[in-house]
Amino acid sequence: MLWSGWGDPAKARELPPQIRELLHDLLGVREPAAPAASFESVRLAPVALSPVRLAALADVVGHEQVLTSRTARIWHTRGKSTPDLLRIRAGDGSAAPDAVLLPGSHEEVAALLRLCAAERIAVVPFGGGTSVVGGLAASRSGFAGVVALDLARLDRLVSVDTESMIVTAEPGLRAPEAERLLERHGLTLGHFPQSYEYATLGGFAAARSSGQASAGYGRFDDMVVGLTVATPSGDLDLGRAPKSAAGPDLRQLLLGSEGAFGVITALRLRVRRVPGRRVYEGWRFGSFREGTAALRVLAQEGPLPTVLRLSDETETMIGLARPDDIGGGSSGCLVIAGYEGPAEETESPATSVEGRGAGAGAVLARMGGVPLGTDPGQAWEHGRFSAPYLRDSLLAAGATVETIETAGFWSALPRLYDAVRLALLGVLESPLVMCHISHVYETGASLYFTVVTAQKGDPVAQWERAKEAVSAAIVAAGGTISHHHGVGRDHREAYAAELGPVGVDILRAVKARLDPSGILNPGILIP
Ligand SMILES: Cc1cc2nc3c(=O)[nH]c(=O)nc-3n(C[C@H](O)[C@H](O)[C@H](O)COP(=O)(O)OP(=O)(O)OC[C@H]3O[C@@H](n4cnc5c(N)ncnc54)[C@H](O)[C@@H]3O)c2cc1C
Repeated sequence: MLWSGWGDPAKARELPPQIRELLHDLLGVREPAAPAASFESVRLAPVALSPVRLAALADVVGHEQVLTSRTARIWHTRGKSTPDLLRIRAGDGSAAPDAVLLPGSHEEVAALLRLCAAERIAVVPFGGGTSVVGGLAASRSGFAGVVALDLARLDRLVSVDTESMIVTAEPGLRAPEAERLLERHGLTLGHFPQSYEYATLGGFAAARSSGQASAGYGRFDDMVVGLTVATPSGDLDLGRAPKSAAGPDLRQLLLGSEGAFGVITALRLRVRRVPGRRVYEGWRFGSFREGTAALRVLAQEGPLPTVLRLSDETETMIGLARPDDIGGGSSGCLVIAGYEGPAEETESPATSVEGRGAGAGAVLARMGGVPLGTDPGQAWEHGRFSAPYLRDSLLAAGATVETIETAGFWSALPRLYDAVRLALLGVLESPLVMCHISHVYETGASLYFTVVTAQKGDPVAQWERAKEAVSAAIVAAGGTISHHHGVGRDHREAYAAELGPVGVDILRAVKARLDPSGILNPGILIP
């Protein structure tokens, strides 16, 4: 992972000339005055933890698993939101942990938490480091130091139960490696977020992630049937049956808890058979309103494709649904509908790729869609993990590009869409605002916005003003502050507004019970 950007540097993407022109002519984007900081020039504070405290940590995990090198600290600084990248590109390493700890077992995690609670050392659980909500930038105030608890060594597929279709896995397993290990058993999680290449199973659960194929496989929290969690107050082992009426489901307290209640050390996950066939196709609608109506009918009446997304007019024009061919957009609104299923035609059209494709196609055509064949679907599939690489090129060119996501009920969706757009247009100078419906449910859907604007003055402060306006607009329009990115530090206030004062008190009470000294991810999630 590039320390100051996204992913594998070998996959860096150049901006096509027509996009450079558009940035310059339409948005007024100019090259930044100063080049990005070099790795050597990133400013880091001295390690705040004393040698005695570092030695005590090493007694738990071993000396080689306590890293204080410049490289380790910079690599564990913040996450991968655009403000995170802007700060590190400006040489700001102020959120770097003092040390990176690499525990090798649940017992070591639990022992580290006990020690850190006793020594008042703040602990940031660290999965793939792809948080985009400030979920890895803990507060230092009142603590002897901050450590990143990197779960990379907890990366085993522990067991496979093909009868129940459940696997047990460790949290530090990155998604591609998890899929590789599962494929040996003919299994898949079917969880493919855009951060797939680097994010971990523990991070997916801790931040309630949702993947591009959520229509077919569900969100990640739908896949979690059990969790083992280490907290400073002791262990939790949750989930022993597919459904239960034994009181409130405490798994739901830990899902989305973003490291503030405990460290997930094992996950029991529902899996599916690897599909033998995948077919992705494109459809065009005349307007976002018409396309939205069609997606609603599919979500409510079926058959539901495995992948389903609808770009608005601007996103379709720019061609963002096919990032490898960016700039090659078209008119109208593009739908990508994908079907995954058994290789052979089954007797039931409800489960076969052809049957579901024909059924969903009939609905899309009835609702005014025009079939575009499989070319747009293949282009989407080819570039499905490429867009984050474009962000690095845009930042270098002097543009700020960031995403905003929310969700609402179908009846509230048009108002939510307008509210977000108006808020952005009101704060930023002639931004490009694109949107797609990224995940659908019977009762509503999520809206995923991509915003591009020329960097003006301090680009972090510029974006923070926009973010504040958009968050207020989402709350006022009745949407949730996050459908799948989580709360972190950036969404805390809006989350508090969603929960109300009693809800906030409940969260604080749970935090006080599980983490009485408040060492776990201070400043994250809990308002
Ligand atoms: C380019 C890009 C694209 C993205 N696309 C998507 C997308 O399509 N869908 C989506 O849902 N998200 C997406 N995200 C957001 C991010 O990838 C998800 O939130 C993901 O779940 C984070 O996983 P991670 O392993 O990187 O966790 P991290 O970023 O390391 O951690 C996330 C939070 O969880 C906590 N945490 C991590 N591991 C544990 C653990 N084992 N126990 C307790 N707490 C833990 C951390 O302290 C932090 O607060 C994207 C991010 C980027 C940068």
